[in-house]
Amino acid sequence: MKTYNYKDLSKADIQKLIQRNADAANTIREKVEQIIADVRISGDEALKSYAQKFDQVSLNSLFIGKEEITKQANTISAEVKDAIKVAYANIKKFHETQIHKEEKTETTTGVSCWREVRAIERVGLYIPGGTAVLPSTFLMLGIPAKIAGCKEIVVCSPPQKDGNVNGYLAFVAELLGIEKIYLAGGAQAVAAMAYGTESIPKVDKIFGPGNQYVTMAKTLVQSTTNTAIDMPAGPSEVLVIADETANPVFVAADLLAQAEHGIDSQVVLVGSSLRIIEETQTELQKQLVVLPRKDIAAKALENSYVVLVDDLNQAMTFSNEYAPEHLILATDNWQQITDKIINAGSVFAGNLTPESAGDYASGTNHTLPTSTYARSYSGVSLDSFIKKITFQHISESGIKNLGPSIEILAEIEGLHAHKNAVSVRLAGIKE
Ligand code: NAD
Repeated sequence: MKTYNYKDLSKADIQKLIQRNADAANTIREKVEQIIADVRISGDEALKSYAQKFDQVSLNSLFIGKEEITKQANTISAEVKDAIKVAYANIKKFHETQIHKEEKTETTTGVSCWREVRAIERVGLYIPGGTAVLPSTFLMLGIPAKIAGCKEIVVCSPPQKDGNVNGYLAFVAELLGIEKIYLAGGAQAVAAMAYGTESIPKVDKIFGPGNQYVTMAKTLVQSTTNTAIDMPAGPSEVLVIADETANPVFVAADLLAQAEHGIDSQVVLVGSSLRIIEETQTELQKQLVVLPRKDIAAKALENSYVVLVDDLNQAMTFSNEYAPEHLILATDNWQQITDKIINAGSVFAGNLTPESAGDYASGTNHTLPTSTYARSYSGVSLDSFIKKITFQHISESGIKNLGPSIEILAEIEGLHAHKNAVSVRLAGIKE
């Protein structure tokens, strides 16, 4: 990986360096617009034809039901089932801590205001399945959707070569009590959930990570339909901050864990020790060659880089500009810098905390904002699946106390009907 010295970088250089996955020529956008238009016009037919084109599979049905899910789930080993159950329990436990009930408050005597939580009724979960099938994503999205109480949970994942879903996804579906999985992937799955087709129901909000086609489709449908999205969660990225207390073997392993996601993934090492940086670079080559996905990881490393900084504070300044999806603090001194983190999707603190823990089983959610969106978005949580509706109740003393102020405010805005809605009530009380 190319090494930059932070001292030599101008503001413009840093802005250029932190850019990722830019679709400068709009090629992905144009392709995805066409796919969305096809799904709107031809529905299921378009989905089947894209499954043929991109997933090389000819589908009779666009979903598998309960019976097939049970059959597939039974094909996996007890050991894998146990590991999935551990992850399930931890993710559930962590997301259940996010259930909060707010108190009512009396803003003026006789005027009470409060918020109540309601689940989003129809949600669509996209489970990636192109280069790797991700049952972990199914857990990360399905568990909070279930805790929130969403009535309809539509699940789409690319069909495998045999026209089915794999046993791991099927087992997660069983754990979640989900009885149907739709066999659609990529931008076409997102379009189907946003517009609805003969087989796939339209939903109110679409969740889930995916490659650049999936992410672009989510971004486009949220502006052209009344379907919301969780966030733009595109190709994965990690930024590792390492000082002289870091272990180069661990750092290299963490960088490769991201790099193997896809050729468009990016990994960044921000180090204050030249020795650790050099040893990590050597270690990267050693660990890379034995990885089954070494070709993908090697390509991702080509768009990755190292930044040499003076100290942890300078490392944090760069990291906040980059706004990484995953931030690993490979240092024994991590407690000194956590309060300086402004922009990050999820943080892994200390030398024994690999990002893989959060990817799978520690409990936090792995669906996170990428491409600098960590500046303004949080990762998926229980909050992503609920709405908070405001309520108020005003008593006789309340309208008497607050009414005159409302009348004045409506008057200065020239909205006389607004003023009248209060005046008639105040007059009614006097009578
Ligand atoms: P995917 O399910 O996102 O995409 C596969 C689908 O892409 C295929 O079914 C096909 O329909 C479509 N596709 C493939 N080639 C295409 C082409 N040339 N034109 C149009 N459509 C095409 O699976 P994936 O490709 O393995 O990508 C998964 C992505 O999810 C990775 O980039 C990974 O980094 C990312 N990820 C992100 C997070 C996060 O929270 N941000 C979490 C997990 C995974």
